Amino acid sequence: MRVRAPNPSPMTLDGTNSYVIDAGGGAAIVVDPGPPIESHLDAIGAAAEALDAKITAIAVTLGHPDHAPGAAPLAARTGAPVYAHRDARFPHDRELADGDLLRVGDTALRVIEAPGHARDHVVFWLEDEKTLFTGDVVLGMGTVVIAPPGGDMRAYQATLDRLRRDFSGASAILGGHGERVGDPLAKLDAYIAHRKSREREVLDALESGPQTIPALVKIIYAGVSRVLWPAASRQVLAYLIALEREGRISHRALERAATADERAILEPDLSKIADPASRAVANAELGYDEASSAIEEYALR
Ligand SMILES: [Zn+2]
Repeated sequence: MRVRAPNPSPMTLDGTNSYVIDAGGGAAIVVDPGPPIESHLDAIGAAAEALDAKITAIAVTLGHPDHAPGAAPLAARTGAPVYAHRDARFPHDRELADGDLLRVGDTALRVIEAPGHARDHVVFWLEDEKTLFTGDVVLGMGTVVIAPPGGDMRAYQATLDRLRRDFSGASAILGGHGERVGDPLAKLDAYIAHRKSREREVLDALESGPQTIPALVKIIYAGVSRVLWPAASRQVLAYLIALEREGRISHRALERAATADERAILEPDLSKIADPASRAVANAELGYDEASSAIEEYALR
């Protein structure tokens, strides 16, 4: 059963999806308790009751503020242990590593480490239902933001490739946001192709000479609302970091500060997001810790 949290925002779409799985034997697993909103935790509890099951495991896909913080209060309500990636920084009781089986009732969730969007990301495979619980790796709608420093483009692409290769028999993807995906292979193929074509666009734009990130965003995302340009700039940075690591491009600092126009593209004005919880999600998603006035130029090698 899906229970959608009342935390809609540009980063969370219609809100975070929590899932309550009937594990058999009167037990239930909650995947992604979501934000610590009382009414949402009530709704998760009601879903378990409707299944005539007691919540005995809380499994979290990633530590972002729209997925994990409900775990502690839900654990306090239910006494269920919290399972999370071994590198997770939020409170958890059991560590998960690749290949682990999280057994509850008559059910097992297989753990797939899934870095790329976040370092502490795991995906769960419910063999019985041939279903992947993908958190923020694959969404029901749109694409995923890969923003350094937590986000790593090549790690993300490797995760997508692995899901495509190892779970070609999947019949559904249940993501952290949006609707159920009924054609997992087509979705994964589209995600994989999208990343390749965006990278091609970055390289094509650099063919004509060195470019700053704001200049690349203006070229590549010309047809996209300016509101999304700051998120796009993080995405472009993720491609540039990958390409530089592979020796295909280099960068140098320009001897001037970023202009107001450039800064508007590099740094989103999060103060416009009035709700502090949504602001925290945007910060986590976009990886903004330090604001810098430096501006750099990237060139093909
Ligand atoms: Zn999310």
